[in-house]
Amino acid sequence: MKNITSINCPLMVEGLVPVDAIPPEHDSSALVADIAVSPECNIRLFNAGDTIFTEGSSADRAYIIESGYVEIFVGSGEDSLQLNVLGPGDIFGEMGIIDASPRSASAKAICPCRCIVVSAAQVAERIESSSPMVRLFISMSLHRNRAYNAYLKTLSTPQVSLPSPAVSEKAYAKNQQYQQILDDIKLESDLQNAVRNDELFLVYQPLLDLNNQRIIGFESLLRWQCPQRGLVAPQQFIALAEETSLILPMGDWILEHACADLQRFQAQLDCIGQSNTDFFISINISVKQFQQPNFFDRLMACTQRHQVNAQQIKLEVTERIFLDEIEAIDSISKCRAAGFEVSLDDFGTGYSSLNYLERCEIDCLKIDRSFIQKLCSSDRAKILVGAIIDIARQLGLPTVAEGIETPAQMAALRAMGCDIGQGFLFSQPLPLTEALGLVGQPLAIAPINPA
Ligand code: C2E
Ligand code: CA
Ligand code: CA
Repeated sequence: MKNITSINCPLMVEGLVPVDAIPPEHDSSALVADIAVSPECNIRLFNAGDTIFTEGSSADRAYIIESGYVEIFVGSGEDSLQLNVLGPGDIFGEMGIIDASPRSASAKAICPCRCIVVSAAQVAERIESSSPMVRLFISMSLHRNRAYNAYLKTLSTPQVSLPSPAVSEKAYAKNQQYQQILDDIKLESDLQNAVRNDELFLVYQPLLDLNNQRIIGFESLLRWQCPQRGLVAPQQFIALAEETSLILPMGDWILEHACADLQRFQAQLDCIGQSNTDFFISINISVKQFQQPNFFDRLMACTQRHQVNAQQIKLEVTERIFLDEIEAIDSISKCRAAGFEVSLDDFGTGYSSLNYLERCEIDCLKIDRSFIQKLCSSDRAKILVGAIIDIARQLGLPTVAEGIETPAQMAALRAMGCDIGQGFLFSQPLPLTEALGLVGQPLAIAPINPA
């Protein structure tokens, strides 16, 4: 066998344990005793010379050495090449289980060994729950490692030739999954700049009293004007912002601007002689934002900075905040006690139990757009919308229907007793200046899809 240290490749030599570093004495009697006391399947014992796995075989577990030494090598017989000698605390066999590839090297016990076994399933579960960026980094490191191992092997067998690791890495980087993750990482980096460079802006969609079709408030909706990507809709970046906690600085930005804009709406109402303290702005608050321990203090500080009334701000939260019910009830109560109204957004889509409605007081239910879309074509959707409106009425809560696109949907909702409507039938979300122009005006209904 050739020892890798004889090959001139500084990259891979680093960290190697020379064979002569292995302690000569091993007390194998301790292992025998262990078999008796440790029959659990997550401990494996090997005798000197035992093959643990062979190059090319499928990988279903990794090992952590508790005691003993293991040799990692490629090739066989005279042509085998030692890559590493590992001892207590070292991990081996992890590459194959991380990327579900065949073993790229063989492992053999060079003295009695006791190893902890980590199953592929244990690792897969953790990798799947990690972020795509972490997965990409792991996968690229593995690929690099494999490419260098394969390249080293060819150095010892000059008759075989392989592309250099750099060439193989470029080919690997072209794969689609890699590109997708890279795109997400770029999106995240652009999004960080968006907050810093003031590329975000708010648009406003009117909410109408369905009985008289008057505008009673607006929902603020976030937009991102990205210099490279153009106008980006929230579906494309809010989920990522939530995953990465970027939603926190973004949420501060949204609160700041929505409060400043509320002041301008109020000034516009004053200007046309229709001062109205019932006029409101609905602000979407993400779960992460709402769960910040100091969310309430930030909200209060923001409204005070802009001198706007808490009573004119509705906080739109989704049912997901009730996954941590005690905390959610506490935060909602605090906000309501200070005068903010709390609306449950996307009602009926997010959470399997309605118990929280009994334990937590809120101010309004927003029926999800998916129900409204099917309202005139599905009896079941109609029954569900009717039931939601009934529940709300019994609880003394108003209902908002979002996503109204046709006069027929509006008529059906009015007949069922829904109080407030929002949707393209009335208006698309508008830039602030256009929204200001709608205040106090009768709204011309322009159906995008008359039914
Ligand atoms: P959402 O809170 O349910 O907002 C309503 C969405 O429905 C908006 O999409 C709005 O443009 C759209 N919509 C309103 N009427 C109609 C209609 O008649 N037909 C159709 N097809 N769509 C209609 P948008 O602005 O793309 O926002 C999507 C989601 O992104 C929002 O859903 C909300 O969950 C999130 N989002 C938007 N702005 C913010 C924000 O400032 N903060 C947070 N945390 N989330 C936001
Ligand atoms: Ca909303
Ligand atoms: Ca909604």
